[in-house]
Amino acid sequence: MILQHSYATDLSELVTRVKPQALKNARVVSINQSLLTQLGLPTQWQDKQLMLEQLLAVDSPLTQYAVAQKYGGHQFGHWNPDLGDGRGLLLTEVVSPDGKRWDLHLKGAGQTPYSRFADGRAVLRSSIREYLASEALFHLGIPSSRALCLIASDELVYREKSEMGAMLLRICQSHLRFGHFEYFYHSGQSDKLQRLFDYSFQYHFQECATAANPYAAMLTKIVKDTAVMIAKWQAYGFNHGVMNTDNMSIHGITFDFGPYAFLDDFKPDFICNHSDPQGRYSFDSQPGIGLWNLNALAQAFTPHLSRGEITRILQEYEPSLLDEYGRVMRAKCGLQPNHANNSGLINEWLDMLVTEHKDYTVMFRLLSKFDPALNDPTLRDQFIDRPRFDKWATMLEQTLAEQQWSTTERRLSMLAHNPKVILRNYLAQQVIDKAEQGDFTLFEQFLAALSQPFDENPEHDRFAAQPPDWGKELEISCSS
Ligand code: AMP
Ligand code: MG
Ligand code: MG
Repeated sequence: MILQHSYATDLSELVTRVKPQALKNARVVSINQSLLTQLGLPTQWQDKQLMLEQLLAVDSPLTQYAVAQKYGGHQFGHWNPDLGDGRGLLLTEVVSPDGKRWDLHLKGAGQTPYSRFADGRAVLRSSIREYLASEALFHLGIPSSRALCLIASDELVYREKSEMGAMLLRICQSHLRFGHFEYFYHSGQSDKLQRLFDYSFQYHFQECATAANPYAAMLTKIVKDTAVMIAKWQAYGFNHGVMNTDNMSIHGITFDFGPYAFLDDFKPDFICNHSDPQGRYSFDSQPGIGLWNLNALAQAFTPHLSRGEITRILQEYEPSLLDEYGRVMRAKCGLQPNHANNSGLINEWLDMLVTEHKDYTVMFRLLSKFDPALNDPTLRDQFIDRPRFDKWATMLEQTLAEQQWSTTERRLSMLAHNPKVILRNYLAQQVIDKAEQGDFTLFEQFLAALSQPFDENPEHDRFAAQPPDWGKELEISCSS
């Protein structure tokens, strides 16, 4: 195992050393075994007691160099320099057997100098939601942070009501956010901004460091990675809910989960965040907001790039996003990767789902099993407007006939792009209700299903059903 502390030591003026503060009767309730192995961490760490001791000791290999990182962010369009990290500690970095670097970060570890008037804690509810969401996205093939370990406790934390305090050990390439660069730029700390850039080139953007213009290469990469991530959100029906720039990773991974939702019925203007009545972060606003956020980040590049260079780079965002979205949507509709863009066919299908208030995931899964050449009514019966469906099915049949794929090949590809199991909010809520009573069985079972979202495993049927009416559009607030 190789532990390093490059951020804490190389950027010591940008952080504050802070130790995790224990919670009352803290206990590790889940460890992600496969991730532990993938990171090359010692197998003894599968032991929950040992993991807990490591995480909460004042001076263990994990906590020796723990730091809180300062950043800011544009919240709902307004610059706020007084943001975190008020409740997260970068513990250490692991270099995995494949040579990649990973941050180990403990969210909810107690107050830091940046906590202001808040308690530095996270609640069990939001920690479970983040654990499930990050793993669910990862297994769908959507870039995301991941969850290594969940700690529950008997400590009461007050949000809108009393809740149980918890901590989440989170893993990602780095915790560098758009808001890190923005913070040092807007506060006029140009020397620290430069240190951050130098650090980024050394550890995370090595391939850009040797480019003719390293800053242009770095911004281009962030633009591309962000576009690809958001394209996948749109294709799989994921609404992040709080795309403030402090929640945007420079690695283009989904990050800082709050009141997110996977769509149930396909409603493009769906708003998952109860605290966002205007819908700034609604589902179909996400691609545009991604560009807005990249614009905000690009400000921090102005010491190195001209306006013209920045504009040119940002112009690559939309085609990158559309490219990736088109690629995934074609796959979801059973079109071969090299198939020419067929937005007419895809858009008509999506429009039928909207008009008839259909469940996005269930309908794509049914579509995967549909053969327009056969007389199977399963999919057709889902629609009220059958003539419209029939017309569309004929269009699909003609399109499929132009392809080289056998029905079996097409079906296998579609089943691998149209998940059976997604993280529905009403299921997450059932997991949370059980967990708050001390029972994590359902959490583990749901997590196992989310880890194989494309498998046709009958044991997962109970996680694949459409939500009951009460379970649709649950209001999720920002409090976490
Ligand atoms: P979030 O909306 O969860 O992304 O939070 C934005 C920032 O607010 C975080 O980065 C933290 O620094 C800060 N924050 C949120 N909740 C707390 C808390 N309970 N205690 C201290 N700081 C917090
Ligand atoms: Mg955040
Ligand atoms: Mg958050």
